[in-house]
Amino acid sequence: MRAKRKPVLRFILGDQLSRGIATLSDADPRRDIVLMAEVADEASYVPHHPKKIAFIFSAMRHFAAELREAGFTVDYVTLDDPANTGAFGSELARAVGRHGAASVVVTHPGEWRVLHAMQGWEEGAGVPVEIREDDRFFCSLSQFRSWAEGRRQLRMEFFYREMRRGTGLLMEEDGTPAGGAWNYDVENRKPLPARLASPPAFFVQPDAITRAVLELVAERFPDNFGTLEGFDYAVTARDAERALAHFVEHALPSFGDYQDAMRQGEDRLFHSVLSPYLNAGLLDPRAVCAAVETAWRDGMAPLNAAEGFIRQILGWREYVRGIYWLKMPDYAHTNRLGAYRPLPGLFWGAPTAMNCLHQCVDQTRRLAHAHHIQRLMVTGNFALLIGARPSEVAEWYLAVYIDAYEWVELPNVQGMILYADGGYLGSKPYAASGKYIDRMSDYCRHCRYDVKQTVGERACPFNFLYWNFLMEKAPMLQGNQRMTMIYASLRRMDEAKKAAIQDQAAAFLGGLSSDY
Ligand SMILES: Cc1cc2nc3c(=O)[nH]c(=O)nc-3n(C[C@H](O)[C@H](O)[C@H](O)COP(=O)(O)OP(=O)(O)OC[C@H]3O[C@@H](n4cnc5c(N)ncnc54)[C@H](O)[C@@H]3O)c2cc1C
Ligand code: SF4
Repeated sequence: MRAKRKPVLRFILGDQLSRGIATLSDADPRRDIVLMAEVADEASYVPHHPKKIAFIFSAMRHFAAELREAGFTVDYVTLDDPANTGAFGSELARAVGRHGAASVVVTHPGEWRVLHAMQGWEEGAGVPVEIREDDRFFCSLSQFRSWAEGRRQLRMEFFYREMRRGTGLLMEEDGTPAGGAWNYDVENRKPLPARLASPPAFFVQPDAITRAVLELVAERFPDNFGTLEGFDYAVTARDAERALAHFVEHALPSFGDYQDAMRQGEDRLFHSVLSPYLNAGLLDPRAVCAAVETAWRDGMAPLNAAEGFIRQILGWREYVRGIYWLKMPDYAHTNRLGAYRPLPGLFWGAPTAMNCLHQCVDQTRRLAHAHHIQRLMVTGNFALLIGARPSEVAEWYLAVYIDAYEWVELPNVQGMILYADGGYLGSKPYAASGKYIDRMSDYCRHCRYDVKQTVGERACPFNFLYWNFLMEKAPMLQGNQRMTMIYASLRRMDEAKKAAIQDQAAAFLGGLSSDY
């Protein structure tokens, strides 16, 4: 009698919930075992928003059920399993012992911290561990490395054009970009007309699996910032595809026009809210871009909207991932502007009279989601202007957003909002006064501060903080060609006003508390 062949253990992590994941590409359902584990280490290495934890655990449980239906044997370790050791490495070692596995197959993770740990799994588990490339992206890590090689500064726009050429997305047969231009931002980013209605929201009613997870999360993470109430995210690939179809039909046509707009009481406007699904593996970025291109070719959406949206995924999403893996682990410790202020408690819900911050933080508390401009120009801009310590800012963004994994969060924080990498990702800091927020939102109309004033009791703090930031960072920034005009305005400002700005900023910063 022939001895039974030992199984291969196929280990799937919480953001690898794709049927096409490399881990499963050659899996044999009759012989192999799929391992999935909800581990305490991952659920608590930052204080994640409860909706984020619930989303990932529920999506994992649904994915396990789908694999079982497809004939796989899935060994699923829940968070409340008394035998659960709470860490990936030890859960893997236990499972290898339980199943007498011959080897382990896993896909490259999304965080450097996990990759580092993964490199020690072979020793811990006592069997070979194969780490496969994550091929769910348009650009492989080696392709990005080759593109970046020899360039002193990387620019997203040039990377994006290469990606357009390489994929053929929004390209004409003769090799020119669709419509004749690479980018239609001149038509985009309009303020929201007062009477324009938002598209209907997409939501999914929690089923029994999700309800059980919500109970578990409520019990285990009662003190984390954020509420579980109103959980309505998709947790399966099928529902995520419905969310995509809903976006394409209802919001895509106006996505470009209003992608920078913010309005009190309207959380999502024309944004897709597809990032949680893309990042967890429930949606394939290729399918998302293809659906958007088809909508444009079929006349269902204008080119400025389709191009603007595809650029976010084919351009920004791929670009920040490339930078993360190129620059880690040092990238996490960059602090070029020398920012050391503790993160104020208002980020964790302490009261603030600054209405824009209150609106964005409160939305984050309710939904675990805020759209790009809220993250960039409100909370991000504030963190930059007050000189908040990059590591604390990064921890906040990683904790509070449902779509946050370090590969995508960190470059957005270190590079895009804080300029902590000294201009590697972006050519200048995204610093702005209250004027920008006033133009793109109605927040200022409901605020106790006056966005038109720069100094004085009712002056908008974004105004004096902005000029104070420019004065303080002048030795590092005034040579930047893209900041020539603003430094010229600063030079024209009279000295008494400059002094008043600096005094008011110092008093404001001195009064910021990290309590919450
Ligand atoms: C400080 C900061 C932190 C961020 N942290 C994250 C994060 O942890 N996870 C995350 O997915 N995005 C992050 N972003 C990018 C962006 O804000 C979110 O992807 C977007 O708000 C998600 O909502 P949406 O799906 O409605 O996006 P849409 O506006 O509908 O955009 C479509 C898609 O484009 C992609 N995208 C857009 N901008 C970016 C970007 N700058 N980087 C990467 N992908 C992008 C996302 O996949 C998004 O789903 C961050 C941005 C900033 C400024
Ligand atoms: S006035 Fe200033 S603080 Fe108030 S909402 Fe406008 S930008 Fe924000």
